[in-house]
Amino acid sequence: MDSIIQGISTFQGQVFPGQRRMYERLVRDGQRPNALIIACADSRVSPEHITQAGPGELFVCRNAGNIVPPFSQQNGGVSSAIEYAVVALGVRDVVVCGHSDCGAMKGLMGLEALAQKMPNVAAWLRHAHAAERIVCEAYPEDMDPAQRHRALALENVVVQLSNLRTHPSVAAALAKGELNLHGWFFEIETGQILAYDGEAGRFVPLGGEADLPVAEARDAPRVAAPEYARMAAE
Ligand SMILES: [Zn+2]
Repeated sequence: MDSIIQGISTFQGQVFPGQRRMYERLVRDGQRPNALIIACADSRVSPEHITQAGPGELFVCRNAGNIVPPFSQQNGGVSSAIEYAVVALGVRDVVVCGHSDCGAMKGLMGLEALAQKMPNVAAWLRHAHAAERIVCEAYPEDMDPAQRHRALALENVVVQLSNLRTHPSVAAALAKGELNLHGWFFEIETGQILAYDGEAGRFVPLGGEADLPVAEARDAPRVAAPEYARMAAE
């Protein structure tokens, strides 16, 4: 704990005094984060660090495997974070961020062995089971373990984006044209971030001049008023 306590001391003694006004403003005006980021709890994947965001800029929810359980009546931390970010804070963008060398994805590749040692982690990873099936059944059998692991982490991001859409707050905001969904993959060893292009169905490098690829874009409300009137009349 020594280095952590030392960090707090440095923050309070050297950093906070220069940022006091910002922190005071964040309390006076409240938070208005730009986006909700659902990332892995892995200590090497810091959403604030890789986006160079400061306090108040990102609403972050992290867990093993950057998982979004599908909506259910059962209450959960991830579901509550999503609902609060979308409904109360009105974020316009939600990012699911996976990463390379993910321990959760390694666990998913050997779920039976994992269940013996870490039953809670294994039960949690069932929300990523679809990704494991996709890689087992739709990818070439002769892929080496490293390729398989990477494919699993990428497919998991896409599966979690699907789970995200089952949440009523997300579904409604998408239908109103008020939300963008993004799927990212952070490659720890290169610092590169790949973004899922929903239209092309593939991951592309993020950055440079190109527009930000989105998994699902906000768009005009799907049901225009005259059509809605017609549907209501039928
Ligand atoms: Zn991870």
